[in-house]
Amino acid sequence: MTKIIRRKTRVIRIGNIFIGGGNPIAIQSMTKTKTADIEKTIRQIKELESIGCEIVRLAVKDSRDAKALRIIKRRVSVPLVSDIHFDWRLALEAIDNGVDKIRLNPGNIYKKDQIREIVKAAKLNRIPIRVGVNSGSLRKFQIPNSKFQTPQIMVKSALDYIRVLEKSGFYDIVVSLKASNIFDTIEAYRRMTRFCDYPFHLGVTATGSPYSGVIKSAAALSILLFEGIGDTIRISLTDKPQAEVRAAKSILETMGLRSFCPEIISCPTCGRCEVDLIKVVKELESSLSRYPVIPLSRLTGKQANRQTGKPIKVAVMGCIVNGPGEAREADLGVAFGRKEGLLFKKGKAIKRVSLNRCVDTLLRELENSSACYPVSLLASSTGKQANRQTVKQ
Ligand code: SF4
Repeated sequence: MTKIIRRKTRVIRIGNIFIGGGNPIAIQSMTKTKTADIEKTIRQIKELESIGCEIVRLAVKDSRDAKALRIIKRRVSVPLVSDIHFDWRLALEAIDNGVDKIRLNPGNIYKKDQIREIVKAAKLNRIPIRVGVNSGSLRKFQIPNSKFQTPQIMVKSALDYIRVLEKSGFYDIVVSLKASNIFDTIEAYRRMTRFCDYPFHLGVTATGSPYSGVIKSAAALSILLFEGIGDTIRISLTDKPQAEVRAAKSILETMGLRSFCPEIISCPTCGRCEVDLIKVVKELESSLSRYPVIPLSRLTGKQANRQTGKPIKVAVMGCIVNGPGEAREADLGVAFGRKEGLLFKKGKAIKRVSLNRCVDTLLRELENSSACYPVSLLASSTGKQANRQTVKQ
């Protein structure tokens, strides 16, 4: 099996999790509520956390937002990042109110004395700064021209900023270089690997509709991830933030970099299929997605590494042409005939299963398959959570 060699980066702490240095790639999203609307924002953060979001960013556009952070921080456990633009003093307020990381945009907070003030506060509070370059907010003189293309300018913008931070003795830095064009995004991140060992937060910006956003992000980020680039990830979508988390998890799972859930292998169906396979697969997928994911912050060392292991494979196949073959190769599988299916476990046919009982049977088999569940994870989790941990030992 192809193994991705991760880029060597320094370890950075964000609240109660660590990124870089080979730690699992952390999933990030952003709240879409007004941060000053404390109750709504807390509700959204908790929802995000329950589905596996590991870092949450919040827009801080004024002092009310910055002040709200103090209360929000007290009531959630996931690390919080403040997104600051234009007004450097908001960064100071956010830090003062206990945020775990600051994102600064070199395109709109660039005065050296202001950056130094933020660095002083970040150092004092031991929080990192993300240098978040965005192709849509480059400074006027940085507009691409015949001599310098967008990726080059983005990298230069990040490096100039990093130099100011480093000159102040600050090295808790994360970098992002997001463009709406996937080739610029890929090229910018690749280019940046030559100049530093700071962890990268990956993303493509302004991706369009949710459907095209997922495709664009997957197209760009899978290339970077395959090259070992990336320490945190956000899939920006014009959709609910929950959709961003699901997409990020799927991309990481597809690339074999994290494993949260069994991987479903199912055929596209065709005229040979005698059952409603689409319904069965949807039902199975939705049942599996309902189980809470234990956050990275609650997994320690080896446990977190296990989340980077191979997923359990569950095959659901429509007929006997490829069905038994695929089902046999998966850890668990069912190949359908006319009204019932044949259940396979580790390559062996074990019993017949009716269409109606198929999803329940697969779920029960997953739960009972003790080899699938790492003991230490079981020990750190409770009830159903524990039962649904699905990373192979
Ligand atoms: Fe068609 Fe059978 Fe192949 Fe599914 S496994 S696509 S039903 S031939």
